[in-house]
Amino acid sequence: MTTVEVPHGSRSVVLRVAQVIAETTDASSLVFEVPEQAREKFAYQPGQFLTLRIPSDRTGSVARCYSLASSPFTDDLPKVTVKRTRDGYGSNWLCDNIKPGDQLEVLPPSGLFTPKNLDEDLLLCAAGSGITPVMSILKSALERGSARIVLFYANRDAESVIFATELRELAEKNPQRLVVVHWLEALQGLPTVAALAELLRPYTEYAAFLCGPKPFMDGVHDTLAQLGVPRNRTHAEVFNSLAGDPFADTAPVEISDEEAADAATVEVELDGETHNLSWPRKQTLVDIMLDKGLDVPYSCQEGECGSCACTVLEGKVEMANAEILDPEDIENGYILGCQARPVTDHLRIQF
Ligand SMILES: Cc1cc2nc3c(=O)[nH]c(=O)nc-3n(C[C@H](O)[C@H](O)[C@H](O)COP(=O)(O)OP(=O)(O)OC[C@H]3O[C@@H](n4cnc5c(N)ncnc54)[C@H](O)[C@@H]3O)c2cc1C
Repeated sequence: MTTVEVPHGSRSVVLRVAQVIAETTDASSLVFEVPEQAREKFAYQPGQFLTLRIPSDRTGSVARCYSLASSPFTDDLPKVTVKRTRDGYGSNWLCDNIKPGDQLEVLPPSGLFTPKNLDEDLLLCAAGSGITPVMSILKSALERGSARIVLFYANRDAESVIFATELRELAEKNPQRLVVVHWLEALQGLPTVAALAELLRPYTEYAAFLCGPKPFMDGVHDTLAQLGVPRNRTHAEVFNSLAGDPFADTAPVEISDEEAADAATVEVELDGETHNLSWPRKQTLVDIMLDKGLDVPYSCQEGECGSCACTVLEGKVEMANAEILDPEDIENGYILGCQARPVTDHLRIQF
């Protein structure tokens, strides 16, 4: 049995696994119980993800993100769905080892892959395990929104379709609002841009949400571009493995007198409170906020998860890695706090 006595870091919570659901031969869902005192921390938006700490004999642990497949509006408990990655460590460990009653250390929900408006028509494109955040969005939009939803869902074969029954039932219950189009590689081959263009052409006015392996996402991006959909109407979630340890508490920042003298200044708004901070130019925004003991949202510290996204209201930053931000996010002034270093002398930033 997997148990965790004490959380490894101050931000994580130990959750008990209430249920394990075998979705397909290579994908399992984990449903978590959330203790009363952690309910607020674990409130989530459709499309967000949890980060799990997975034990490892070799490195102590690895951290892996898993999207919530449940909807905050229709499901009592949060559920993630893990699909085995060939030769992957974390996904296979979870699928092989976790049983109901086990405990896992989990970071609270985060992520930006969430529709701002559930009343907008949605084009959802998923492949394989990419269905998980898309399922959360789909169920939430059906429950809380009023718009039409089209799901294009690609899989290797019929046996690998996760949530097949639930999707069929939802489509039957909502014939005016939901259309589900399955694509099976075993029968139809890989979806080409030409085939995708035929399928997606009627939905170019819809807000698009994409999640799946890179070749699939590239194909859908190319198709939508060819159909004239502006890039800022397309949102994508990229599934990567984290290399670092977002569970560990960070060490205090050491700053030389020279760096302190040359620091920028920043006015940061967090949870409705404004903080005026000195921002040494080699430090990231997350570093300096943690150093001041502020409860800044963050997870991977690698620019991969989007937990620390915030908005620049004044000034300019540079970022080493901000590939997960959509063009629309960038247009709206979004930055990643864990990657941002100051360019201008004074900045105003809002979380
Ligand atoms: C925001 C987000 C949400 C996600 N949601 C989901 C989800 O809902 N469901 C889901 O199943 N997954 C999800 N993922 C992906 C998940 O976090 C893991 O990346 C995935 O489970 C693979 O992890 P792993 O430990 O099994 O594989 P890894 O051990 O990380 O291996 C992944 C691949 O990399 C290769 N590899 C590993 N180490 C090396 C190395 N040193 N050199 C070269 N190649 C290497 C492996 O051979 C394998 O092909 C999400 C990721 C993100 C960032």
